[in-house]
Amino acid sequence: MTDLIVRGGTLVTVGGTQPADIAVQGGRIVAIGPDLGVDARDVVDAAGLLVLPGVVDVHTHTRVATDSEPDRFYRDSVAAAFGGTTTFLAFNNPGTGVSDAAGRTLLAGLREWRSLTGGDAAVDYAVSLVVTPFQEDAVAEIPAAVGLGVPTFKAFMVYDFGLDDRRLYQALAMAGASGGMLEVHCENAIMLEELTARHLEAGETAPRFHASSRPPYVEAEATVRAIAYARAARAPLYIVHLSCGEALTAVRAGRAEELPVFAETCPHYLTMDDSRYLLPPEEAARYIISPPLRGAGEPDRLWAGLADGSLDLVATDHVPDRVGVEKQTWRESFDRISNGGPGIETLLALVYGEGVARGRISLERMVDLLSTTPARLFGLREKGAVEVGRDADLVLFDPTVPRVIRQTDLHHASDYTPFEGREMVGAVRSVAVRGTWVVRDGAFVGRRGFGQFVERQLERYD
Ligand code: MN
Ligand code: MN
Repeated sequence: MTDLIVRGGTLVTVGGTQPADIAVQGGRIVAIGPDLGVDARDVVDAAGLLVLPGVVDVHTHTRVATDSEPDRFYRDSVAAAFGGTTTFLAFNNPGTGVSDAAGRTLLAGLREWRSLTGGDAAVDYAVSLVVTPFQEDAVAEIPAAVGLGVPTFKAFMVYDFGLDDRRLYQALAMAGASGGMLEVHCENAIMLEELTARHLEAGETAPRFHASSRPPYVEAEATVRAIAYARAARAPLYIVHLSCGEALTAVRAGRAEELPVFAETCPHYLTMDDSRYLLPPEEAARYIISPPLRGAGEPDRLWAGLADGSLDLVATDHVPDRVGVEKQTWRESFDRISNGGPGIETLLALVYGEGVARGRISLERMVDLLSTTPARLFGLREKGAVEVGRDADLVLFDPTVPRVIRQTDLHHASDYTPFEGREMVGAVRSVAVRGTWVVRDGAFVGRRGFGQFVERQLERYD
């Protein structure tokens, strides 16, 4: 007898949408067909619902459990489940709760992060390791990390833990040569520091000056430079949180040269603009993220990039900052405000509601952007599609119900949502991870520690 049959739903894959039943055995999809019967231990009626592959969010800054905040990693994993995200990728960058000692080598960082998160997640998860100048010889450790199933790395071109250009080149080259891929936060550090200093000297300290301290050309210049280094290094490059048309132009130019250059954007850049910074300072601080929210025309440029394939995917850049804690530094000056905002629970809701329901992208393209391409680019070979042989990570989604996003309905470790009050259509009903329900009919039925760390292996680009 089969473990589970999901009956009567509308299955969405990158290739098309059609009615289909799905049979699950041992956590994997074993059959997909028009009528698989009812001979299973669990039969779930999905009539009127879309059956989607679980969302793969490749960009989160979930924070590991500490003595004072023992539940924050678990809570964000539960939030992911409610949002239809069945696998999330985190980083071990400074600020996520990792120790300074573990920050001194890549492999010690991996060991510590795994021990601090083991047995703590409700859905599956993985990590991308951050390469910093504080590590003794991170570049030399890259091949060993790839061998341990962690083939994606992150580097910053700004911040005190960012890499200088030579190290950035070396990290790109080593990652590429060992079957890995470097993710890069692209901004020009010199321009950013100079523009920030100019504002502060003029007494312009309010949150609104965050955006003008790092305008689109600051991002675009660094994007062009990172692509050039990746080209010279013959290495793949993954550009995180692309926010504007000017940077997108650089990605399109790289693609035209057939370089393995990939780029993501995030829900906040697709749904908001820099008018948020004109709100009263304590409100504006909620939208302090980097790159900043952009001008009014930019969201449409990004939607066009998602529709035409020049942007590969949408990920959240989730940071569980709280208005009542991390964001309070708005009282000092804009450059002291913790960068980031929460989003782990609202990814599918926003991309469906703002993208599919408004006709900007197709349903099939949404599945590609949220599940199939992120799983492929990040080496999650069992994830990302409802297909025989893959993990049964399933989302039953009602595309008709109206919904208003409210912090009071969310489960993440933050105390606000940047999308408060947004009127949407579509709701996650039930979510399975490897064939086991973690959310059923809108209620959490999962378990702490059910989520597994996923070892990954990338495609080769040489
Ligand atoms: Mn970043
Ligand atoms: Mn980030």
